[in-house]
This record gives sequence, C-alpha cells and structure tokens, in this order.
Amino acid sequence: MKTTNNAFWEEKKLEDMTQDEWEALCDGCGKCCLHKFIDDENAEDTQTTDQIKQDESLEFTNIVCSYLNTKTCSCTQYAKRTELVPDCVQLTKKNLSQIFYMPTSCSYRRLHEGRGLPSWHPLLNRNKKTVMHNADMSVRGKTVYEHDVDMEDFEDYIVSWPLNDLD
Ligand code: SF4
Ligand code: SF4
Repeated sequence: MKTTNNAFWEEKKLEDMTQDEWEALCDGCGKCCLHKFIDDENAEDTQTTDQIKQDESLEFTNIVCSYLNTKTCSCTQYAKRTELVPDCVQLTKKNLSQIFYMPTSCSYRRLHEGRGLPSWHPLLNRNKKTVMHNADMSVRGKTVYEHDVDMEDFEDYIVSWPLNDLD
C-alpha cells in the first residue's frame, strides 16, 4: 500500500481524496458485508433497491457474505468482489448519496456526516485492527455465513449491534 499524508482525513473532503487515501479510510470492520434489508410493511415481495423512503427502516442481520474471512474481517475476493457478488456494496465518491446503507460507524459515513474518525480506527492505531476488534466494532465472532442459513428465514437473524458506534 502506498503511503498517505498524516491525518489527511482531517484536511480533505471525501470528494478530494486520492484513491489511496480513500482506500486507507476503510476500517475493515466487515459490517458492510452483512445482509440487510429495508423493512417496508407495504411491500409484497423482496427486491433490491438503492433508495430508502421516509417511513422505511434499514435492518441489519448477522448473516454475512461467504467471501468474508470472519476472523480478519477482510474480503477474500476483494479484486473480483463486484463480479462475484453483484450487489456487493462498493462505495465511491460518486455514490455517496447511498451512504445510508452503511452502518453509522463506517468511516465514510462518519466523515460524510462531519463526525471524524473514532479513536478505535486502525488509522489511529498503527494500522492495526486490534483496538477495533476489542472495542466490539467489527463483525468478528458475531456472524453466520449465508451458505449456512435458509435465506427465507432472514428475519430470524435481525441484529442491532451493527448500528452501534463509539465516540
Ligand atoms: S462499513 Fe465502511 S469502514 Fe467498515 S468495512 Fe465497510 S466500507 Fe469499510
Ligand atoms: S464480496 Fe467481499 S466485500 Fe463484497 S460483500 Fe462479500 S465479503 Fe464483503
């Protein structure tokens, strides 16, 4: 990985970051690899969407994509992820309007909302994830793989912990 300027996230807007800076921002928590859905009582069937309406809510489950290494919380197929998983969330400068899909602790969401990076973020901890894991802010030890569950029963796997955030 190329080096980045110190505390670039405090000086630049997301839109102005280089690709290396953008990539470095990701905390590697794995929360965006959890299956989630929009709870809409009026919907008759399940469908994908990139919008959320005022009376709808986003629910997270602890069902995780099969390509996530649930110990390191890293994608095992990062280069091919959008090819292998068409609905894999790939947040870019161009689709920041879709950031509501991200958990509140997501670095991109925090910066987009002017909340800065949290103290447990790897960038503030010698690029190590240990503090994040210990602060319970990653998915480590909390998930089930999608290939191990009947996705028809996804409502049984709704959890609130992905919405937790610290400082
Ligand atoms: S939720 Fe955000 S910060 Fe965490 S792994 Fe996903 S993109 Fe990175
Ligand atoms: S393909 Fe990789 S980045 Fe995409 S949801 Fe699956 S584990 Fe996460």
